[in-house]
Amino acid sequence: MSGNSKSDQWDVIVVGAGTTGLPAATTAAERGGRVLLVEAAEKIGGTLHVSSGQMSAAGTRLQAEKGIEDSPEKHLEEVMKISRGTIDPVLARLTVFNAADAFDWLMDRGFDIQDQCPSIESAHERYEVARYYWGNDFGKSILAVLEPAMREQEALGRIKVLTGTRVTGLLQDLQGVVNGVELVDAQGRESSAAGKNVVLTSGGYASNPVMFRRLCGRRLYLNGAYEFAQGDGYDLAVAAGGYLRGREKYLSNFGWILEDGPFPKGMLGRANTYPETRLPWEIYVNAHGKRFVREDEPSVDVREHALLDQPELRYWIVFDDAIFRQAPPIVFDWSREQMAETFNTCEAFRRADSLESLAVDIGVPCEAVLETVADFNAGVAKGRDALGRSHSPAPIDKPPFYAIRQQGGSLSSTVGVAVNEKLQVMRPDGGAIPGLYAAGEILGSGQLQGNAFVGGMMVMPCLVFGRLLGQQLVEF
Ligand SMILES: Cc1cc2nc3c(=O)[nH]c(=O)nc-3n(C[C@H](O)[C@H](O)[C@H](O)COP(=O)(O)OP(=O)(O)OC[C@H]3O[C@@H](n4cnc5c(N)ncnc54)[C@H](O)[C@@H]3O)c2cc1C
Repeated sequence: MSGNSKSDQWDVIVVGAGTTGLPAATTAAERGGRVLLVEAAEKIGGTLHVSSGQMSAAGTRLQAEKGIEDSPEKHLEEVMKISRGTIDPVLARLTVFNAADAFDWLMDRGFDIQDQCPSIESAHERYEVARYYWGNDFGKSILAVLEPAMREQEALGRIKVLTGTRVTGLLQDLQGVVNGVELVDAQGRESSAAGKNVVLTSGGYASNPVMFRRLCGRRLYLNGAYEFAQGDGYDLAVAAGGYLRGREKYLSNFGWILEDGPFPKGMLGRANTYPETRLPWEIYVNAHGKRFVREDEPSVDVREHALLDQPELRYWIVFDDAIFRQAPPIVFDWSREQMAETFNTCEAFRRADSLESLAVDIGVPCEAVLETVADFNAGVAKGRDALGRSHSPAPIDKPPFYAIRQQGGSLSSTVGVAVNEKLQVMRPDGGAIPGLYAAGEILGSGQLQGNAFVGGMMVMPCLVFGRLLGQQLVEF
């Protein structure tokens, strides 16, 4: 494996056997390439072990079978619209024009898809056409296709898989050409491997609180990403002369209910803040005690952007006892009884006999909360809400009063390694670093989705770019 003679040289060294690395290695091997696939974890699969695995693709065979008219052009138009033009147009085009091929390939290999797909449903801003797909076992259903495909090539001797082995450095000659990697195995043994091409598919940094804060200027609030998403590839790319971009495109989810404890915290539950499935009875109050968005705002993107301006990306869902008893329970999959038992047992669920005590308890200015609730109640009485909300069936005036803390944040990495249309890592002067490529979350959601959550546009570019690199790097 180590050494520098031509015969010891791999055609492709893939750094990370996850969503992007598996198709990259498999495709390169199918074309006859000799591939070294290095994986830091003991198991392969990366973020697919935890991801919802939702993908978007237009012009698929499944859409055609179900009579759904769609095209990559229409998909591109919509991703541009949803991201307000902030998505990287080159990477978006590359994804959508190759997405159907990648998805059809998954289907050909027995992807265990949910019956309702392609679907229009989404936790993010919706597409106009049903082009959303996910498996019965979410991300793991994708892995159930990718792993056997890779193992076939491994069995043919075309891929060598090293698990429990981290790439810790890149080999680079005096002209700046990347021609190999430095490795450390689980026993701490160091070695190196020479390769004509090195592909960084090592994922993001969303399990690395220090890097998260440094790169996007925000705290990592939720402990929900894959534990090996430590951002190793970012340091490797930058050390080789590459640069990062996308910090300004950070976007927060509209919030989760988190457990007690230091950040990053675990997830306790999720409130249904989607007016299309549950109209709000409650109000959302920020750290200043003010409402900051119309709670029945139909666009999740507008709600998410409103949260971006709030201190610590945090707000409280505030309501009274009448709402608690009459409205459908606001926490997904929780009964009213479960909620009742949880109040005052943890930081995120609070109950008090008066609004004043509730405000003190949650650390929000008391006067402001009283004024906000009084304004809201006046709007309910007049039938005209100050923020333009149309669903306000009841005032907030019957004790006890309740507050559920919502914490915004992100599960993926916004900032990414700058690449060109061939996925070559670029230097700040715009030149490509010979021999070095990057694909997957390491490119950052800022490039792959822009300043928006564009449904399925993290997993799909991973699969597409992995396959494209495998094809591009090994010529028949
Ligand atoms: C909870 C959750 C839900 C999500 N849901 C969706 C969704 O529904 N739709 C969507 O589009 N996106 C979703 N995403 C995002 C998407 O799943 C990820 O962006 C994508 O799977 C990342 O793929 P990747 O190939 O870049 O990285 P990974 O799949 O994480 O693979 C990277 C691999 O590299 C390995 N590695 C890291 N460092 C090294 C090193 N130094 N040496 C060797 N190996 C290394 C890691 O162990 C890992 O196996 C979700 C993310 C999360 C966390």
